[in-house]
Amino acid sequence: MNVDLHSHSSRSDGVLPPAQVAARAHAQGVDWWSLSDHDETSGLAEAAAAARELGLGFIPGVEISVTFCEQTVHVLGLNIHPEQPDLQTGLAGIRQIRFERARGIAARLQDCGIAGAYEGALRHVDNPQLIGRVHFARHLLEQGHCKSLQQAFDRYLGEGKRAFVPMRWPDLASAVAWIHAAGGKAVIAHPGRYRYTPQQFDALFDAFKAQGGEGLEVVSSGHTPAQCDRYARVARAYGFEASRGSDFHAPHIPRTELGRVPQLPDDLMPVWRDWV
Ligand code: AMP
Ligand code: MN
Ligand code: MN
Ligand code: MN
Repeated sequence: MNVDLHSHSSRSDGVLPPAQVAARAHAQGVDWWSLSDHDETSGLAEAAAAARELGLGFIPGVEISVTFCEQTVHVLGLNIHPEQPDLQTGLAGIRQIRFERARGIAARLQDCGIAGAYEGALRHVDNPQLIGRVHFARHLLEQGHCKSLQQAFDRYLGEGKRAFVPMRWPDLASAVAWIHAAGGKAVIAHPGRYRYTPQQFDALFDAFKAQGGEGLEVVSSGHTPAQCDRYARVARAYGFEASRGSDFHAPHIPRTELGRVPQLPDDLMPVWRDWV
């Protein structure tokens, strides 16, 4: 079975509308799919309807930005009831601080001699409720300030770069509580992407376990094979369930294509076992 529980649409920083992500997941041979936009659930109804038409299994999801030990961590909420009020209030607060950050990013780009970046980024925003660094990256690329999205992050938008604005997202416990209130399971996304010390990783997994967090995204397009092995061992040691996700944002990037990442190791408990 091909299960891919991490992907993005143009409701956050992906490029395809939800129905087109559904069609692409189906065409790529995915059996069960989750749309998990950043801090936003407004694409889930369209995604669910498209999946139903296609005969594609659908799990409603969201990827929540949190701060833990001074760094950003992404927590997937899977199989959520998106309309739950605590979740919606929490996500609306995050979307608000994203817009405040966007003003800060534009001010820093102005100091770099790049004027009008706020309005420029907005032209790449499809959902007026959600702005992210990728929208700035697309504007910088379009205006010739960089040669790729990666270079936009390396030069301007990445952590510690010239237009980086440090963020204080909600804490881990809040995100886990919203996900649980919404009837979902909480899963730490792409753990291999965080630049923690071994002690900080232990603190993250200990705190998440104590909060009732269920799962770890063991297989991710953001992981090397060695990282998949490492987080499989963490899942075994902590008794976390395991998830698998492409983190698809856009077509024509083979590494992040829907349904193409490796399968979970056989002995792990899939987070989706009761859903599919
Ligand atoms: P934000 O949540 O607005 O801070 O933006 C984070 C998003 O930016 C991630 O979900 C990725 O889609 C994208 N991103 C982060 N780092 C890079 C990078 N180095 N190159 C391209 N995209 C990136
Ligand atoms: Mn993204
Ligand atoms: Mn992420
Ligand atoms: Mn993601």
